[in-house]
Amino acid sequence: MQVYKTINTLRAALEEERSRGRSIGFVPTMGALHEGHLSLVSRSGEENTITVVSIFVNPTQFNNKQDLENYPRMPEEDIKMLQKAGADMVFLPEVDEIYTPGMPQKTPLHLPVSLTGVMEGAFRPGHFDGVVQVVSRLFDIVQPDRAYFGEKDFQQLAVVRFMTRALNYNIEIIGCPTKRETDGLAMSSRNLRLSVPERNSATIISKALAFIRDNHRSADPVQLKHQATEMINSGNLKTEYVEIADAETLEPVTDWNKVSNARAFVAAFCGPVRLIDNMQV
Ligand code: AMP
Repeated sequence: MQVYKTINTLRAALEEERSRGRSIGFVPTMGALHEGHLSLVSRSGEENTITVVSIFVNPTQFNNKQDLENYPRMPEEDIKMLQKAGADMVFLPEVDEIYTPGMPQKTPLHLPVSLTGVMEGAFRPGHFDGVVQVVSRLFDIVQPDRAYFGEKDFQQLAVVRFMTRALNYNIEIIGCPTKRETDGLAMSSRNLRLSVPERNSATIISKALAFIRDNHRSADPVQLKHQATEMINSGNLKTEYVEIADAETLEPVTDWNKVSNARAFVAAFCGPVRLIDNMQV
């Protein structure tokens, strides 16, 4: 496994692989890796000859300066984990390598309000513009055959699928299921910032999502959203939103009969840490 810090050295290595007809799988991450990230890496390993993993804490997708500063960074541990997981190339650029100082940064496309006006888009203004900016930049650099994203960030996956179609990238986008701790908490780099009591309280998020899933036959969506919100808020967390949405359009669901594929979503603060999760209903 080789670590590349510059675009030019990574590109040269990838061109060499491509000229030999090797397929390239790409897993973009922000580091502080856990089993969830590694599940994407092994899926890529199964489906491609070469797996490239990027580790880049992208400043343009953070709408909160404190969150960016506090985001965990541990590249040495990450590299060791990726070596074990069988990644072939790691791209570990500095911010200036991705966003050349003084160069105007293109915003590659305008996202529809259906994607940016709800849930993460509504509560983190500009977040998905930053995601699109960095993912398109990384796609241009790596030019993979397939790219792997987690359903943990379900709305992000929808945004990336939209962007890939809108900008005509010839890249297959693969969504991968959420990896959870044994008590149900979705794995997240942000979990590292939770104190022990916060970590214990955080399990209420997946319990509330499972409550929606398990009771969807007996109660209407609005009622279940209220109940789930109460569950989470009475467990020492503070919800930003609890939503039940159409998994295809992300439109809020008010009537089970009008949707064939619904998904429940939560964003909640656990102490100072903002956690998100979602589950198929
Ligand atoms: P991040 O480093 O948080 O930007 O995540 C990088 C990629 O890993 C994204 O596609 C995430 O959706 C995915 N990911 C994060 N957590 C999980 C998880 N628990 N299970 C599966 N994929 C995940």
